[in-house]
Amino acid sequence: MIELKEIKKIYKTKQADVAALDNVNIAIQDGEVYGIVGYSGAGKSTLLRLLNGLEKPTSGEVSLAGKALNTLKKSTLRKERQKIGMIFQHFNLLWSRTVLENILFPLEIARVPKAKRKQRALELIRLVGLEGREQAYPSELSGGQKQRVGIARALANDPTVLLCDEATSALDPKTTEDVLELLLDINKKLNLTIVLITHEMQVIRRICDRVAVMSDGKVVEEGQVKEVFKNP
Ligand code: ADP
Ligand code: ADP
Repeated sequence: MIELKEIKKIYKTKQADVAALDNVNIAIQDGEVYGIVGYSGAGKSTLLRLLNGLEKPTSGEVSLAGKALNTLKKSTLRKERQKIGMIFQHFNLLWSRTVLENILFPLEIARVPKAKRKQRALELIRLVGLEGREQAYPSELSGGQKQRVGIARALANDPTVLLCDEATSALDPKTTEDVLELLLDINKKLNLTIVLITHEMQVIRRICDRVAVMSDGKVVEEGQVKEVFKNP
């Protein structure tokens, strides 16, 4: 389970203090597909940076599987962060490396033995449906294929959680549908928890179990997607 308890995040700027998050409480169950939706400036990216341990809350607590991130030693925090994979709007691939090399990279960083790396990378390439494109460079791939590489790379070290940062916002509707289909498939196959932030309501409707609607740093509605988005 992922828990955010009474989270406040204040950014101090020269002009004023900005409350990017203001008393946010969210609990996400294992295996759930959870959406965070809101307009630009609502606090979604800030929330994501707290979840992946890149930033600390001004007050409140973020915990993963019952462990509060702020109480962990640096080395333990690093291990916990490996349980979180992430994909991005603009894919963030290494452009001078092949598909295979992009996926091998996180395995090298995690010091997976050389003999096992390639086997694992090929398994991931199959999982995301990129067989035959191992030696292609990202510039030779379509947007949907680039995001498939992003997904394979994010899953390389067996995370329990996948964070998706506007992961389909740069894709056309058909490709968005294909990538969402893949994410759902992986969610079921691997019992992976998926947290996605987006400004696209249709993405939330398509794959999320529950949703938090954010505005001005606050969760203004939360619950089952069918309930929150039901027409009055
Ligand atoms: P979203 O991802 O929903 O667009 P953000 O989390 O990026 O929202 O931003 C929430 C609020 O916090 C905005 O008012 C933004 O300007 C402010 N903010 C975000 N990051 C910083 C920062 N590093 N310094 C100052 N203000 C920030
Ligand atoms: P490497 O670290 O494998 O040598 P590069 O030097 O090719 O990677 O790229 C460094 C960074 O430059 C990439 O992570 C990417 O952000 C950016 N970049 C390079 N080529 C492109 C491209 N064709 N489109 C978008 N971004 C690119």
